[in-house]
Amino acid sequence: MQLQTILNSIEKYKGFVYRRIKLERGAEGKRLLVQIEPDKRCKGRCSRCETPGSTYDTLPERRYQFVPVWAIPVFFLYAARRIACQPCGKPVVEAVPWALGKSPLTRAFAWFLAAWAKRMSWQEVADAFKVSWDTVSGAVSMAVTYGLAHRKLAGIETIGVDEVSWQRGKFLTVVYQLDEHCRRLLWLGEERKEKTLHGFFDILGAAASKLRAVASDMWTPFINVLRDRAPGALHVLDRFHIVANVHKAVDRVRAAEARTLAKEGRPVLKNSRWLLLKSKGKLSDTQGARLAELVKINLKTVRAYLLKEDLRQFWDHFSWVKASIFLARWCRRAIASRLPDMARVARTIQKHHPLILNWFRAGGAISSGAVEGLNNKLKLVLRRSYGFRSYDSATTALYHAMGKLPEPKFSHQFW
Ligand SMILES: [Zn+2]
Repeated sequence: MQLQTILNSIEKYKGFVYRRIKLERGAEGKRLLVQIEPDKRCKGRCSRCETPGSTYDTLPERRYQFVPVWAIPVFFLYAARRIACQPCGKPVVEAVPWALGKSPLTRAFAWFLAAWAKRMSWQEVADAFKVSWDTVSGAVSMAVTYGLAHRKLAGIETIGVDEVSWQRGKFLTVVYQLDEHCRRLLWLGEERKEKTLHGFFDILGAAASKLRAVASDMWTPFINVLRDRAPGALHVLDRFHIVANVHKAVDRVRAAEARTLAKEGRPVLKNSRWLLLKSKGKLSDTQGARLAELVKINLKTVRAYLLKEDLRQFWDHFSWVKASIFLARWCRRAIASRLPDMARVARTIQKHHPLILNWFRAGGAISSGAVEGLNNKLKLVLRRSYGFRSYDSATTALYHAMGKLPEPKFSHQFW
């Protein structure tokens, strides 16, 4: 069997034929060169208006990199024709179906690299397929640009808005779709101001009126914009973020007290951090015993810890009236605890009491696990892509990995 036969069965282009295939041995190793020629029976088509026309002249031959075989890079060689196009009224270069604009990659190879970049870091893809990091980056950008232009934003009912720190002192605003049938990254914005989140709603347009529930953390600019731009949706402050805030407060109490005790020569809080932040049921036997020891000594840290553990019961309530009473009582206790860090977080919770209670009214529409899961994945992608200095590459990587973006159909699945 000849390679042309295989090429014709996986990637056949009407009006073009695969001719000679040559194995080139150069300084950079072996390469397969596939000569493509126009099918004499067909006229070339104008790349602007698709109209067939007669050949005006022929441009110098170009190389287009295709998907490799047996780890040998494959290149298509083709000298494009210029078409004397009647409607355009001048010679225009012909449409070349495997090409991707001025890129030296074929469409198939660019999509192939982009697909692998979902499974490995860009550098690993570059190494595996003997291309440069910039080539992989270009392929992923192409896939993201295509995907964002072709994705559908209709039918979104639940979204979650989040902020993620991605470089020292810098934040990204992140919007997820949280519907059970589709959980994906919808949008990213630089910074976390009101103006930033307005940018998302400007893109969403009329689809905002279809939103049924929106979730966010307690960041005031987000709360303000969600109230203005999604007035018909139930706004929920999600569990994940509230728990995270209380954890931070407990940790501040612990760190301060550990320092004081260490100065006094009583390092009882040494290595206690995870012990105090884990939920009780997830502790090992030794950890449980250590915790019981700590609870016996009446430390500030222990009081903060017990407050944190109590708050968990809030989400177990079946009636939102009882939940409301519970939350009010918890806030009063925390404020009276003489632990300034706990009092501060309790005051914030108190201020947002109605939005926190909406969690019950949303009837499980906001899955705390979904927000947390997407959040973790996002941090993983950012970590894996630590090479990205620029905002553009970081957001491209995130949309690519988490946007569930559509791809064009190929007659052959290359990956
Ligand atoms: Zn034309």
